[in-house]
Amino acid sequence: MAKLYFIGAGPGDPELITLKGKRLISEADVIIYAGSLVNPEILKYGKEGAAIYNSATMNLDEVLQVEIEALKAGKKVARVHTGDPAIYGAIQEQMDGLRAAGIPDEDFEVVPGVSSFLATAAALKQEYTLPGISQTVIITRMEGRTPVPPKEKLSLLAAHQATMCIFLSVHAIEKVMETLKEGGYPGDTPVAIVARATWPDQRIFRGTIDTIADILHKAGVVRQAMIVVGKVLDTDYDLSKLYDSKFTTMFRKGTDEK
Ligand code: SAH
Repeated sequence: MAKLYFIGAGPGDPELITLKGKRLISEADVIIYAGSLVNPEILKYGKEGAAIYNSATMNLDEVLQVEIEALKAGKKVARVHTGDPAIYGAIQEQMDGLRAAGIPDEDFEVVPGVSSFLATAAALKQEYTLPGISQTVIITRMEGRTPVPPKEKLSLLAAHQATMCIFLSVHAIEKVMETLKEGGYPGDTPVAIVARATWPDQRIFRGTIDTIADILHKAGVVRQAMIVVGKVLDTDYDLSKLYDSKFTTMFRKGTDEK
């Protein structure tokens, strides 16, 4: 049956795709993958004879054309994105393009994936939401060719001093750190950068808002990296209420209840 699946392929490690995503790739007649970031190993899950397109060399109209023609020909399509497609995945314009071409919503589906900001937490062996420190994770980016709305400027977001995961910005590390400081983050706030989380050449850098840019420059060219900022990276915190022996939860009686 003709159907298109937008599939989150995960951050790099080809085992970090869902079982569903892997199965759908193995059944697809047409595979379109974001070649700039998706691990080509993922393509090995495809069946022999599947048509493969690398969207890195295509524009939106070209991608839509392949998707729509395949659907009209009754084919199964796997549109493979890096991480989770909902985060900087440019899938909205594809879904809206399909709708504009008269493809009904039943003919396409989104299969989530492990976003790189979560693979980064795993690489750091770090929880982003520590009680008493931060209960909020801000996912954002530095302005690039894609503008960022004024109310979401990094300096304004920094004022919350929540845990921040900054995508697509490592090339402008000085500017990012400067802006965070302007926004109120103290210079000694810890920063971790994970480059190519879960790939064989994964690298981790740690420093502070004041020191991380130098550390990165000494390391040479760093790309495909996540910047994590926040006190969770280096601090004492309160233990969770969920596993507190005093507290009763839906599943467990604590000493607070006689
Ligand atoms: N949809 C993707 C993000 C695409 S935008 C996701 O959910 O992860 C591309 C940006 O994601 C990169 O600039 C980088 O900041 C981040 N990124 C993607 N893969 C990464 C990885 N393996 N390790 C660290 N950061 C990664």
